[in-house]
Amino acid sequence: MNWEDNVRRVVPYVAGEQPKEQNVIKLNTNECPYPPAPGVAEVLHGFDCDILRKYPDPDVSLLVRALARRHGLTDRQVFVGVGSDDVLAMSFLTFFNSGKPILFPDITYSFYDVWAELYRIPYQCQPLDDSFRIRKEDYFRENGGIVIANPNAPTGVAVPLSELEEIVRTNLDSVVIIDEAYVDFGGESCVPLIEKYDNLLVVQTFSKSRSMAGMRIGYAMGNERMIGYLNDVKFSFNSYTMSAVSIAAGAASAADETYFRDTVAKVVATRERVRGELDKLGFICTDAKTNFLFVSHRTIPAREIFEALKAEKIYVRFWDKPRISNCLRISIGTDEEMDRVLAFLEAYTGGRKDETHL
Ligand SMILES: *Cc1c(COP(=O)(O)O)cnc(C)c1O
Repeated sequence: MNWEDNVRRVVPYVAGEQPKEQNVIKLNTNECPYPPAPGVAEVLHGFDCDILRKYPDPDVSLLVRALARRHGLTDRQVFVGVGSDDVLAMSFLTFFNSGKPILFPDITYSFYDVWAELYRIPYQCQPLDDSFRIRKEDYFRENGGIVIANPNAPTGVAVPLSELEEIVRTNLDSVVIIDEAYVDFGGESCVPLIEKYDNLLVVQTFSKSRSMAGMRIGYAMGNERMIGYLNDVKFSFNSYTMSAVSIAAGAASAADETYFRDTVAKVVATRERVRGELDKLGFICTDAKTNFLFVSHRTIPAREIFEALKAEKIYVRFWDKPRISNCLRISIGTDEEMDRVLAFLEAYTGGRKDETHL
């Protein structure tokens, strides 16, 4: 016997690279290219450091109230955590304890299987169809819980609300988690269904549409009993997950709906323009309703394009995994950044076309 026989071994999640070099165009982790709402900078510049002597509010009331108001919910229907990764991990621990397999798509956010492994939750991946769509019937079987990213990552494909409602309605005995990390960019939110179904938990984040990945704020919305159970688990291992700085900065962001909408609209406009241009260069794009595009080229392998972009200090995401190894996920940057990417790809794909005609 040896202590290493008793280690909880896990293969950790691998996030997109955070390059250390200068002058890169970073389109590999779906961050927002625009700054957070101006109120966030005001809060940070004026922050009274004496506040840091004391523990922060364990109930995160300021932020919970701001989010509840924005979504038309009560304070007791909102749970806030350190990024939606923290909220999702805690939700797996809280709700997926039946011993039956939980269900999620075969191509989706690659943290789901990591958490399932970490907590020893059995799971079964349900294959998306050839156009990367969920087949709702795959979720009409016995299970210990369901988690679906909508819109999905890395495909960008969104499921209509009516289909998700059918999945929630068919599974009243298990918790259905809808991960809405990208919903602000064009998906339909399940939040209106919370009043109707007490087995639905909807998770959102400040990392993408609110330009605050560095602040680590995520939240879950569901019925009061469900949120109560999440709080019980949180208060059983760390009552003070949200720093005083995060709470104040998050509340400032939540208070500025106009800035939020304008920022999202800019990203969506750039996405649609880039989609059109990529199409002309021989790329096939999914109907991504996200702040990224999921693309493959008609003739050039994804890995080659990935390497060529990297040599130009343009970072995008590539997975050497079954079914998606010829695809690239390209986050939407500023118009200037995307113009540089398009100019490079035009030269690169054009050059390749001539080569193949020789
Ligand atoms: C980015 C992302 C998250 C995690 O975001 P946080 O930064 O932890 O809030 C969760 N789910 C999906 C699908 C994501 O893409």
